[in-house]
Amino acid sequence: MQSRDQPVLRDIVLIGGGHSHVGVLKSFGMRPVPGVRLTVICRESRTPYSGMLPGYVAGHYGFDEVHIDLRRLAQFAGARFYRDDAIGLDRGARKVLCANRPPVSYDLLSINIGSTPRMDNVVGAAEFAVPVKPISTFNDRWLELRERIGRRAGATRIAVVGGGAGGVELALAMQYRLRNELSKAGRNPDDLVVHLLSAEPDILPTHNARVRKAFSRVLAERGITVHRGSEVTEVAPGRLRVADGSTLDADDVVWVTRASGAPWLRGTGLALDDSGFIRVTETLQTVTDANVFAAGDVASMVGRPLEKAGVFAVRQARPLAGNLRRAVQRQPLAAYRPQKRWLALISTGDKYAVASRGALGFQGRWVWRWKDWIDRRFMAGYADLPAMPAAPHAQPPTIQLGEDEAAQAISAIAMRCGGCGAKVGASVLSRALGGLRPIERDDVLIGLHAPDDAAVVRVPHGKAVVHSVDFFRAFIDDPYVFGKVAANHALGDIFAMGAEAQSAAAIVTMPPGLDAKVEDDLRQMMSGAIEVLNEADCALIGGHTGEGRELALGFAVNGLVDEDLAQVMRKGGMRAGDVLVLTKPIGTGTLFAAHARQLARGAWIDAALETMCQSNRLAARCVFAHGATACTDLTGFGLLGHLVEMTRPSKVDAELDLAALPVLDGAEESSAAGVLSSLQPANVRLRRAIRNQAQVERHPRYPLVFDPQTAGGLLASVPADRAAACVAALRALGYAQASAIGRVLPQSDALAPIVLNAG
Ligand SMILES: Cc1cc2nc3c(=O)[nH]c(=O)nc-3n(C[C@H](O)[C@H](O)[C@H](O)COP(=O)(O)OP(=O)(O)OC[C@H]3O[C@@H](n4cnc5c(N)ncnc54)[C@H](O)[C@@H]3O)c2cc1C
Repeated sequence: MQSRDQPVLRDIVLIGGGHSHVGVLKSFGMRPVPGVRLTVICRESRTPYSGMLPGYVAGHYGFDEVHIDLRRLAQFAGARFYRDDAIGLDRGARKVLCANRPPVSYDLLSINIGSTPRMDNVVGAAEFAVPVKPISTFNDRWLELRERIGRRAGATRIAVVGGGAGGVELALAMQYRLRNELSKAGRNPDDLVVHLLSAEPDILPTHNARVRKAFSRVLAERGITVHRGSEVTEVAPGRLRVADGSTLDADDVVWVTRASGAPWLRGTGLALDDSGFIRVTETLQTVTDANVFAAGDVASMVGRPLEKAGVFAVRQARPLAGNLRRAVQRQPLAAYRPQKRWLALISTGDKYAVASRGALGFQGRWVWRWKDWIDRRFMAGYADLPAMPAAPHAQPPTIQLGEDEAAQAISAIAMRCGGCGAKVGASVLSRALGGLRPIERDDVLIGLHAPDDAAVVRVPHGKAVVHSVDFFRAFIDDPYVFGKVAANHALGDIFAMGAEAQSAAAIVTMPPGLDAKVEDDLRQMMSGAIEVLNEADCALIGGHTGEGRELALGFAVNGLVDEDLAQVMRKGGMRAGDVLVLTKPIGTGTLFAAHARQLARGAWIDAALETMCQSNRLAARCVFAHGATACTDLTGFGLLGHLVEMTRPSKVDAELDLAALPVLDGAEESSAAGVLSSLQPANVRLRRAIRNQAQVERHPRYPLVFDPQTAGGLLASVPADRAAACVAALRALGYAQASAIGRVLPQSDALAPIVLNAG
């Protein structure tokens, strides 16, 4: 893991979380290069292991067993994880262009994005066939296919197009699974008819005759009709056409033919082969650009074409990691020499497999067990990561720096030791913020568009200003998403009051480092923040950026309400008989504590970040429209703390139904494991406010009422007769887990105002 005291000197960016990059991440996690930071850009946080995919389709493995948790692996490696789609490169500026965030800068780049189905050359294929590639999104298509087949009454004909190892394995695995499912549903498994079509004269053209014979036998025994020399030329609903003019009826067509490189690679200027894959040398550097590497299916080695198989992508991890290490330290690179013969273990779906290596071929149930053992061992290497080593002290960098860079690096380290804060250089600031476009508002008289010592804003006639400030340090390593969450969190107070946001001033702490790196992080973070502020109609009018040990961001925010305060929702406005409505799920505190300790699943963090990026603006309008008389946004004090802040001034008691609380996925597991936010103990002191504490303290959701929230939802007190409509309206607005979670009670004589219902 990279030391936090070490300024970042070089950025290696990995596009795609394929089989090679997972190995690179693990390698850098075990043995980091001082001063080198890794960033992974991947469209999903769980990446499939292709070797077990047919076993998953056949039903022998669960989803988690065949996916590597990339977010967790990145955390182990001290790498930043950006969940996004790369859509292009600006190689001149060394930036990766992404679908949903500002460009990401790199010093070295590696691409391991697999392949894309080639369907554009067959009429109707893109519209009517189910592509297996990209395998990362195959699961959704497979689940839909199963559902479709389950719903269809009577016979179902499936055509698998592609007679390579992928097609053969998939046809057998699908047949095995679907027959089982039909039987379980009390239907006749023979209702399922499977065809396999190969454009080549035989199936498995890259394997030896013995292996081909073995599979021909298995396919015949299993009743799968093989159409050899049958190139599909057209796909239409319910039917496909073959080159010889014949047609075949098929309710579903699964496409497993040769794939090509992603279309966006064509715009990168990198040399590509005829199938659109990136040409690389034996060092895995692209032939066009020594700073760009490629591995796995997407790479096409000049003079040594390799089978598009996960086994090569896996094997390339080690040479790729080695060469990235060497390249970043300006050392000579080593050649990767792929093996001439390689072992393929191809399964038949029913826990039987055939081994193929050069001219050798053998088969049996034991071959499947052997394959299963190899695959499980591979996956265990990514599931059971070694305990995260303590962050080492700053190591002397082994990176060669220019004179100017060296001076910046030394000053960055000196700054850390002195522990002093200083302003970030003006030129870094203006470059980082120059391209950002905060919205302009008529009531901002002097703002960032004509910067001065301070901003000047007008309070429109009949309005009053609502003012709030929030600030916290980064809890994730993605500055863009952090910027979004921080802005959302700060705006939460304004919306909870029933106000509309008007203007915001930012306060930023940046860890010192090379100017280019500081500039880049600042741009990413402020881009995220400005997106959220702009969307809220809130003008960024100024700010201050200082240096500090950790990245942190906060905002002083102004909102506007009518002067008569008629629309203001105060904490003290609760009325006995009201229903408590919560607009978002809780659990961010425990989840990010687990994330910091590599104990959280990537999918949990994805879902939590999604809710944290969701604005409370519409929710506030909605609860107000449904008669809410009191409202607050959930932040650091947790649900209980904020509820008590409301019951006290309202002079009421309240009861919460623990079973009704909306809870983020994983939050119960991680709090049950004792993984709690560092703020939790301070919040737990408020347990004296719970009247029936002894009866509920063992409830699995009990710790979550103390869990501190970041960018949490709104807690509102809504008249009972409008609560159900309010929850329905919130859900329709996209607050999918909005719920009624309890009731407001008349104030009792009891000292503790809150009752928790465990039922
Ligand atoms: C049914 C089937 C069975 C197979 N079985 C085997 C087998 O048993 N053994 C074997 O060796 N091979 C097998 N293969 C082949 C194997 O799937 C591929 O060769 C292998 O997946 C290639 O690995 P990769 O690392 O290059 O890319 P992939 O595994 O495809 O990974 C690419 C990654 O990049 C991400 N990504 C893609 N585009 C972008 C983008 N623009 N921005 C950000 N991220 C992006 C994806 O989300 C994914 O995480 C099989 C193929 C099929 C279809």
